[in-house]
Amino acid sequence: MAETQTKIICITCPVGCTLSVSYEGDKVLKVEGNQCRKGIDYAKNEIKDPRRMVTTTVKVKGGFHPLCPVYTSAPIPKPLIFELVKKLREIELEAPVKVGQVVLKDFLGTGVDVLSARDLPKANSKRKQSS
Ligand code: SF4
Repeated sequence: MAETQTKIICITCPVGCTLSVSYEGDKVLKVEGNQCRKGIDYAKNEIKDPRRMVTTTVKVKGGFHPLCPVYTSAPIPKPLIFELVKKLREIELEAPVKVGQVVLKDFLGTGVDVLSARDLPKANSKRKQSS
């Protein structure tokens, strides 16, 4: 298998180092441009099994807001992101929604759940006033 070179941006921290990565298949041979060890780990993961956290919203029936923010419990493989977002568009929760509530369990057997990021009361319920 031939050696391939590519450039990727490390998104592990706000510095955003540009990494020059040489690899064969899914084996990383050399990483340059990283300012710390995490850049090497990031490059290896990006070549072998790139994953991302996903945050989006889902519809809520009868809620104080029509949409509820949600997030994945762990990063999912990048090739599955489109399918996940498509699946979440089909879901409509019923208010009230609790923070941390499981919106979608074990997406495609990845072991990753999608969770609600906030409480969302019913549309007609009064919000608690802080004193
Ligand atoms: S290589 Fe290190 S310093 Fe550079 S973006 Fe990645 S984590 Fe940050």
